[in-house]
Amino acid sequence: MADSTTQSVCWGTVALFTALTVLTFVGVPLFAYFYDYTLLDWVLLAVLYVVTGMGITVGYHRMITHRSFESHPWVKACLLVMGGWAVQNSALMWCADHIRHHAHTDEEADPYNASKGFWHSHVGWLFFDTPHREDRFAAKLRTDPMIMWQHRYYWVIVASGLLLPFALGYLNGGFTGGLGCFLLAGVLRTVLVLNSTFTINSLCHMVGTQPHGTQDSSRDSWLISFISFGEGYHNYHHTYSHDYRNGSKWYNFDPSKWLIYSLSLLGLTYNLHRERT
Ligand SMILES: [Zn+2]
Ligand SMILES: [Zn+2]
Repeated sequence: MADSTTQSVCWGTVALFTALTVLTFVGVPLFAYFYDYTLLDWVLLAVLYVVTGMGITVGYHRMITHRSFESHPWVKACLLVMGGWAVQNSALMWCADHIRHHAHTDEEADPYNASKGFWHSHVGWLFFDTPHREDRFAAKLRTDPMIMWQHRYYWVIVASGLLLPFALGYLNGGFTGGLGCFLLAGVLRTVLVLNSTFTINSLCHMVGTQPHGTQDSSRDSWLISFISFGEGYHNYHHTYSHDYRNGSKWYNFDPSKWLIYSLSLLGLTYNLHRERT
């Protein structure tokens, strides 16, 4: 049997990321050259960037992983679909990895161990499947039927998130319109949101300040918060991980906490945890 340090290449992920990279750097500019993008394509790129990005930060990260608030079942279902559209694995797998990251930050067992360098913590770790990938960190998540539903239908959800921009583009401009919308609001959007999330695992453990503790390599970077819906305050987050806010000050740019708080005013989220005033 393989020991815990044995790693095998995850060819499915390699193929997916190769396809996304080729489409982004070849397909997206070629389409712009021959046909150009419509206003609908750009608007959907922006809308789906926010929708799927918040699916990860509010849904996967702050709701499922850290249980920093509770929500109405429909809100939870929507967040799980939005997060699935980001093509970052099912909530079961993503959150198990992230619980492990917090439990073993900077150690060998940390899936995106930043002490192994920028490439590994940013994206390289995804290309290897380790035997301990699905383990005790997923056990509690497995008892949640909604998380298991999302895990079971993950690829259907991913496909719907890519077909949606194609369908809307198709209605607007036939097959060419559909292709343009798919490339911009499907492919490019996915790559941008992926890198937004990856940046937290890499740069937020390398660049920035540590005002809340030096127990690990986590850093606060207000600049990174602007592309990651408030997740740049990563040193605060590692120190007070049960807090529904990552930027705890009212002036900190943290759209994720604003969404969670706004939904609480409507009674759609509740039991919001604050570990510091
Ligand atoms: Zn976290
Ligand atoms: Zn971290």
